[in-house]
Amino acid sequence: MSVKTLSVLGCTGSIGVNTLDVALSNPDRFRIVALAAGSNWRRVVEQARQCRPEVVALFDEEAADQARAALADLKIPVLSGVEGVSEAAALESARMTVSAIVGAAGLAPTIAAIRARKDIALANKECLVMAGALFMEEIARYQVRLIPVDSEHSAIFQVFQQTRWMRRLVLTASGGPFRGKRRGELVNVTPEQALAHPNWSMGRKISIDSATMMNKGLEVIEAHWLFGLPPEQIDVVVHPQSIVHSMVEYMDGSVLAQMGAPDMRTPIAVAMAWPERTQTNVPSLDLPQLAKLTFEARPDPADFPCLELAYDALRRGGLAPAVLNAANEVAVAAFLDAGLPFLTIPKVIDRTLDSLPLGAAAQLEDVFAADHQARKVAQRIVEEIC
Ligand code: NAD
Ligand code: MG
Repeated sequence: MSVKTLSVLGCTGSIGVNTLDVALSNPDRFRIVALAAGSNWRRVVEQARQCRPEVVALFDEEAADQARAALADLKIPVLSGVEGVSEAAALESARMTVSAIVGAAGLAPTIAAIRARKDIALANKECLVMAGALFMEEIARYQVRLIPVDSEHSAIFQVFQQTRWMRRLVLTASGGPFRGKRRGELVNVTPEQALAHPNWSMGRKISIDSATMMNKGLEVIEAHWLFGLPPEQIDVVVHPQSIVHSMVEYMDGSVLAQMGAPDMRTPIAVAMAWPERTQTNVPSLDLPQLAKLTFEARPDPADFPCLELAYDALRRGGLAPAVLNAANEVAVAAFLDAGLPFLTIPKVIDRTLDSLPLGAAAQLEDVFAADHQARKVAQRIVEEIC
């Protein structure tokens, strides 16, 4: 069995750290040849000492300088900026690129990896939300393998037969920290409360997306592009235990679900090893201990409007999902760091969508321009509210 070489984008984040865990516990199967992150150079330096990659990249120039000094003895080159991160993504010796940068910043490096014909293990759902059709065209043009890391999409990928046989997809949602809460109870929630996810330990942005249900909305869009079903055939059901990671209902009524502990090392390992399997340290499911798996209808849009906003953006198509994504990133950052009230996150998104002409996404430049424009508009709306 040959060793698979990996470039890990977003190596210091929650997905990145779990990717390294899977790779380092299977040294006969995987070798990390490139590490890339935003600004956390201390963590990257630590990881580089462990993994001995051929190259390291930090988006932030000053952080790159620090890493360069700290890694001088190992003679590992440290690249910087979006070009440096993209170079790491497309490194000649890498066979697969793990795309786990958070947000729109992940799009350009992931496209660079596709164009260099790397297999893509995709955690960065924002890529597909922003540029779904164009992204899938690049995947087809360069004939690369695209394997989802997001647990719901990994579940569907693992039970996938043919799109034309599918009656519907059922994405499961844990409901997040505010499951069962009504609008009135969400007025004064703090970032600390919103960050406290019951089942998953994740980065800050996706944790807030889980609290607003925007994460599930982004995942509906992601599922549309990955599996080719229209929005009316993509359902969401709340499943608080996060054991069933999603389901496909086929035309004969058969429902195939995938289960496992809520531990991202499993879907990461699935993507890394596909079409084979690899060992992880994820504990076995203890079903008697779990005792109950329960399901509930998705929440009322009056309480959690973000899921509907995402369905609407998907139906509108063109640049609408890119604008939705950018406005959401701005609003989430403002909630975390600038006191934007929780319930105004969907308002910022809705108003940004209303303020911009939403044309077609003919090429990636259109998507980058819409992202840029939407951030400016959303920021102005945030400032009006705060
Ligand atoms: P995180 O915040 O923990 O980590 C983000 C990573 O991106 C860090 O390594 C950071 O340094 C890097 N980064 C940020 N800006 C960058 C830039 N401009 N250039 C290069 N690197 C940059 O986030 P996470 O929770 O690991 O999520 C990463 C992605 O995976 C997100 O798109 C998220 O939606 C998706 N995802 C995460 C989980 C999870 O369990 N954490 C599950 C499913 C999908
Ligand atoms: Mg998910």
